[in-house]
Amino acid sequence: MHAALSKFFGFRSFRPHQEEIVQAILDDRDAFAVMPTGGGKSLCYQLPAAMKKGVCIVVSPLISLMKDQVDAANANGLRAGTLNSMTTASEREHVGNAIRAGELDLLYVSPERFNTGLFIERLKTIDIAFFAIDEAHCISSWGHDFRPDYLALSRIVSEFPNIPIAAFTATATPQVSQDILQRLGLRKPHITRASFNRKNLFYAVQPKKNVDQQILAFLQDRLRNRKNESGIIYRTSRKNVEATAEFLQSKGFKAKPYHAGMPDQQRNAIQDEFLQDDCPIIVATIAFGMGIDKPNVRFVLHGDLPKNIEGYYQETGRAGRDGELAQCVLFFGRQDIVMLSYFIKQIEDDEAQKIARMQLNQMIHFAEHDACRRVSLLAYFGESFSETDCNHCDICSGDVDRVDATIEAQKALSAMHRTGGRFGAGHITDILLGEKTEKVLERGHDRLPTFGVGKEHNKVYWRNLISALLAQGLARVEDLEYPVPKVTDEGWKVLRNQREFQIIRQQSGERAATQKKKSRSRGGR
Ligand code: ADP
Ligand code: MG
Repeated sequence: MHAALSKFFGFRSFRPHQEEIVQAILDDRDAFAVMPTGGGKSLCYQLPAAMKKGVCIVVSPLISLMKDQVDAANANGLRAGTLNSMTTASEREHVGNAIRAGELDLLYVSPERFNTGLFIERLKTIDIAFFAIDEAHCISSWGHDFRPDYLALSRIVSEFPNIPIAAFTATATPQVSQDILQRLGLRKPHITRASFNRKNLFYAVQPKKNVDQQILAFLQDRLRNRKNESGIIYRTSRKNVEATAEFLQSKGFKAKPYHAGMPDQQRNAIQDEFLQDDCPIIVATIAFGMGIDKPNVRFVLHGDLPKNIEGYYQETGRAGRDGELAQCVLFFGRQDIVMLSYFIKQIEDDEAQKIARMQLNQMIHFAEHDACRRVSLLAYFGESFSETDCNHCDICSGDVDRVDATIEAQKALSAMHRTGGRFGAGHITDILLGEKTEKVLERGHDRLPTFGVGKEHNKVYWRNLISALLAQGLARVEDLEYPVPKVTDEGWKVLRNQREFQIIRQQSGERAATQKKKSRSRGGR
């Protein structure tokens, strides 16, 4: 195995987990590996593909990346080919001949191609070593990148009962993992779950005010003594991508826009400039970055709230691939929630809409979470981080500004308790503000002692405070879809004056309200 590793890849040692996965595949076992981006998943199937008799069928979702993968494999001395909708007739013939002659190690196919009956019948006539499913989370509707074509891969176990399957992903919450195992029907697989902790990334969340100015201030500070450092700035809409890029150019920064609405040629040119350090800063929608392996990205900024944590993790994960320190800053304002919720409401499929809403809630929770960012990110992936202080996020390093809000917490917790923990944050807020809404009157909540005790603050304040109570575990919701906060034991300590409560200082509600109006009319990615 080690000899093959150095012969084909020129590497002297395995990265964590690679060896055990390669071994499992060599032993003809099914395998399932969850490893972060950049962890070296390709090698886990390419190496056994080179060592085993027969061809490894690699299913991979992006035709645009397939050619690069094939080229990279060929450059390592592996014999790789591809069949997808872009393949010409002569290439197809060439690949077909190579397979029949037993001269191919890896055949990359798109799921659409796999899903044709004829193709499956053809595959049955050749000597297959094993199937490798790359980006396996695409099979799960809980994942962030569900592709219905991947569902066809459930057929592998019945159509090819004797051939092992190895599945790989970088984005698997425990739920997505279960989905992958079940839908692929893996048989007693060797399961690997690598740590998702990126020690060298510093995570911070800052209240979003005038985001272009904030990005500018960040760059001025960061690049003062390190002019040519590379970074990616994510924005949600194409319009904002262009506006931010233009703004930064006008301030003398080498920044270029990138989004799916630009002509291919121009996009590719900009991507190449970025990879070659000619243009150090890219302002992009999430269309940018898939398959990009640039080691020296020193910062990733998010000008807008991402839709889900997986996306956020992938995007920030493009920083610091070389293991050197890198910075990730998310500018978070509640106005973004309004916009994202609006887009979620447009999703027609009910199930997909429900999932999108839950994912957004988790993202909001992360941004508002008044505890170590690393702990909450890792918790999302089902990983616990035992050190109490990561020392490498805004919270642990004491960068955030805190204010006491014990009295306010008591008011809100009391309203939750007195209404039996059966009402959402909106209703609790109405009670605190003394709003005589239909629901308040109907339930007689205007007669509660807490009715109207929170008039000194506005709605935005109370919504934030309730989020902070949830984030710090003083209240808890059991069902994210119908989030009704209930007081926890820790919350009772605040109610009984046994502990204090602090929140991160917030931007004022007025500002949030005016920004909300501006952020309404934005386009897609
Ligand atoms: P993933 O698919 O998990 O995101 P890749 O397979 O694309 O990651 O690998 C990321 C990078 O790590 C590639 O440049 C690859 O050559 C490199 N790499 C993988 N395994 C090793 C290893 N054992 N030693 C050194 N570099 C490796
Ligand atoms: Mg990969």
